[in-house]
Amino acid sequence: MPQPILIVHGGAGTIPEERHPAAMEGCRRAAQAGWSALSAGGSALDAVEAAVRALEDDPTFNAGRGSIMTRVGTVEMDALIMDGTTLRAGAVAAVRRVRNPITLARAVMERTPHVLLVGPSAEALAELLGLPTADDAELVAPRDRERWEALWRNGPPDLREVLAQALAEPMDTVGAVALDAAGHVAAAVSTGGMSNKWPGRVGDSALIGCGAYADDRVGAVVATGWGETLMRVVISKTACDFMALGLTVQTAVEAAIRLLEERVDGRGGLIGVDRMGRIGIAHNTPHMAWAWTNGETLRVGIRAATSR
Ligand code: ASP
Repeated sequence: MPQPILIVHGGAGTIPEERHPAAMEGCRRAAQAGWSALSAGGSALDAVEAAVRALEDDPTFNAGRGSIMTRVGTVEMDALIMDGTTLRAGAVAAVRRVRNPITLARAVMERTPHVLLVGPSAEALAELLGLPTADDAELVAPRDRERWEALWRNGPPDLREVLAQALAEPMDTVGAVALDAAGHVAAAVSTGGMSNKWPGRVGDSALIGCGAYADDRVGAVVATGWGETLMRVVISKTACDFMALGLTVQTAVEAAIRLLEERVDGRGGLIGVDRMGRIGIAHNTPHMAWAWTNGETLRVGIRAATSR
């Protein structure tokens, strides 16, 4: 049996130097949280949920607490979790006032006959299950409120400028993939989305195959970056398909990022694990914070070895 392993990321983008320590420390803590679940006999699914919850609770990242704001100043989050054993998945999109969207996504998978619930319906499920809530003031990071206020000071901002600015900033979405002792893989992703997005906008992070994909026969992959481009190449499933065709996980994530850039001029990053416990990290943004652990070793970084 391959050795269990878990890898997390804290988003692809340009991460200012002064934020590198917080991003790497947050990833390290999340990897430890995920590993605690795995070493306590938990499944890969438990581990990726625990890791992503830790990242959602850390205001450094754009997910849960620390989420960015929509154009109208609200917080709308997307999350997705997938079980590689059964190919079951659960997701929520444009959900508000939920403290840990990843746990709500898991509830969609386990407690409803559905895969994806949006907005108020997802919030109603959270309420029914008594999941912890948080209002926008608690969810938004102060630095994002300041950025948002500056952007709107002189009236509606120019959309092209907003996109250029969003792409130049860290995107900070979070994700995790894991392989457990039983040989099962799982993937989880959670985000506040893209800066200044329209209310109701749903990104890759809520969509199976785009934000994440997991299949025990192959491995698991999670994406981050400019969602509108990631979803057009169904990037996580594409990377899994490359693995199924025989590429190593590292070559597969690199090939998927190359495809993203060549076909849709996209920006983003991927982490992946294959069913043997080998991992891959790739991005075409200047940075992507990551951490992985197999219990014996824990490594943290802010850039993939092969990134350009
Ligand atoms: N992929 C996310 C989205 O487009 C953003 C990110 O990865 O930071 O919603």
